[in-house]
Amino acid sequence: MAKCGSAKDAVVIGTDGLDALIKLLAKDGYDVIGPRVESGAVVLEPVDGVDDLPAGWADEQDGGHYRLTKIDSPAIFEHVVGPHTWKRYLSPPAQTILRARKRGKGFSVEEVVDAPKYALLGVRACDLKAISLQDRVFDNGDFVDKGYFARRNKAFVIAVNCTRAAGTCFCVSMNSGPEASCGFDLGLTEILTKTKHVFLLAAGSERGRKAIAELKKKKQVKAAAAADRAAAAKAVDAAAKSMKRKMRKDAARLLAANREHPRWEEVATRCLSCANCTMVCPTCFCSTVEDVTDLKGKTAERVRRWDSCFTHDFSYIHGGTVRRLRSSRYRHWITHKLSTWHDQFQTQGCVGCGRCITWCPVGIDITEEVRELGKRRT
Ligand code: SF4
Ligand code: SF4
Repeated sequence: MAKCGSAKDAVVIGTDGLDALIKLLAKDGYDVIGPRVESGAVVLEPVDGVDDLPAGWADEQDGGHYRLTKIDSPAIFEHVVGPHTWKRYLSPPAQTILRARKRGKGFSVEEVVDAPKYALLGVRACDLKAISLQDRVFDNGDFVDKGYFARRNKAFVIAVNCTRAAGTCFCVSMNSGPEASCGFDLGLTEILTKTKHVFLLAAGSERGRKAIAELKKKKQVKAAAAADRAAAAKAVDAAAKSMKRKMRKDAARLLAANREHPRWEEVATRCLSCANCTMVCPTCFCSTVEDVTDLKGKTAERVRRWDSCFTHDFSYIHGGTVRRLRSSRYRHWITHKLSTWHDQFQTQGCVGCGRCITWCPVGIDITEEVRELGKRRT
């Protein structure tokens, strides 16, 4: 697992160096996944080089609102987080976990562990924290999700420190950004001034140090000057200071104390139960399993799929749905995220990425809902 990196040992690379890094990782057998523009959003998909990255694009985000705008700048990481999260690769939306084949009168059954070797390029601090939370979910000490850890342990993580905050970000108040200090192999900060466009690059693991050594051999690395480190720190600090939303520090207590609050009925009049918030959330992990057989009855597969606590089916048990009302489903989701996760995983389940606010079609805002609970007591 990657360890913490330090800006004091950092080097500097240019856009050619970033391109060389992507190609180096591909040559080492990694499927490099990074941000690229598709269907009007920055999504996380395979990238072959620096030309695939979203240079000159910035995102505009607010409750129920996302727009990409072209900017007059070569900046590659001016966008913040989009609708995709890294769980798409580490815990995919559909994964075959068992396969059975007819053998004579019986079946042979094999466990399936599909583990491509991914290099994740552009992991923001909040998403890095989300990955560490999913590590805890998928290994609770008694049970380990083999597929998740097979992918996770192979993954090469390149973090990117945010130099701009989106309108829905609130990672500062969740202690999870905008700077990534641990849990990556390489950490990047984009530095863009009138005279230069470079990336401060720090190693956070032995694998990261080896990658930098390879880039040095290709003459893509320069020593970082004190001015580079200062410019990077200033840009990250400005992103932190510009964040407009924040979560109340006493969210866990407020939610535990307000299970019958009238706000649950109010939010239910707006919530569509569409499950968008859970699909885009980097920490949500609910799943269901489906068994699928071929028409000849020769093979069968067990497929695990993402599911959501916003559906009726999710809480269906022998003859009835436990959480029939939208109010109880919303209450369950937010209470789990911010309060009962502490009992279950000894941490909060939200990293302040803001995706659930941006991608909620009616703009329900998790920070506002908690604030409202704090205003009025039942
Ligand atoms: S609950 Fe919302 S803000 Fe928190 S991690 Fe999930 S998507 Fe991000
Ligand atoms: S809170 Fe918003 S995104 Fe989540 S289920 Fe309700 S309407 Fe959909």
